[in-house]
Amino acid sequence: MLKFLKQVVDYGKETAQAAKYIGQGLAVTFDHMQRRPITVQYPYEKLIPSERFRGRIHFEFDKCISCEVCVRVCPINLPVVDYEYDKATKKKKLNSYSIDFGVCIFCGNCVEYCPTNCLSMTEEYELATFERHELNFDNVALGRLPTKVTDDPMVTALRTLAYLPKDVMEPHDLPAGSQRAKSN
Ligand code: SF4
Ligand code: SF4
Repeated sequence: MLKFLKQVVDYGKETAQAAKYIGQGLAVTFDHMQRRPITVQYPYEKLIPSERFRGRIHFEFDKCISCEVCVRVCPINLPVVDYEYDKATKKKKLNSYSIDFGVCIFCGNCVEYCPTNCLSMTEEYELATFERHELNFDNVALGRLPTKVTDDPMVTALRTLAYLPKDVMEPHDLPAGSQRAKSN
């Protein structure tokens, strides 16, 4: 008889515990049902990268003096500077320049130390390819200006990744200057 009573008590405890956990789970579900949308509908919507975002490097061929500082400060000696010495002008003449973005860690050292500022980091982050060798950018590819999220007519640019204010369901309906920081 005592054993039976103990089983009933244990069963009651377990039932109460299960009900508590179900209640906790549902509380989270109902809480999320109250919240504003946060999803970025990529690729139709894109976040605007921050000003100091370290994306694909831009290179200005005419400004490069072939000093190879970028190679020396690079943790993996990545930039390839192909030049020849011009005896007439007694200066190095740049033939080609390349950076392999399949290997680059986007640390920005080369940009930081280049004495002529011919390197700069852009906001371009969509570098995916089917063939990794296509990530080895020559000076022509490096010289291409990035496509800005804000200049692309096919894309809705989003300023921040955050909950929308109350009663705004579409990110692009957000008035300029409004905040999207809080839930509810
Ligand atoms: S960003 Fe860093 S890893 Fe990439 S080329 Fe420049 S120094 Fe090298
Ligand atoms: S540091 Fe600048 S100027 Fe010197 S080789 Fe590199 S890109 Fe050219």
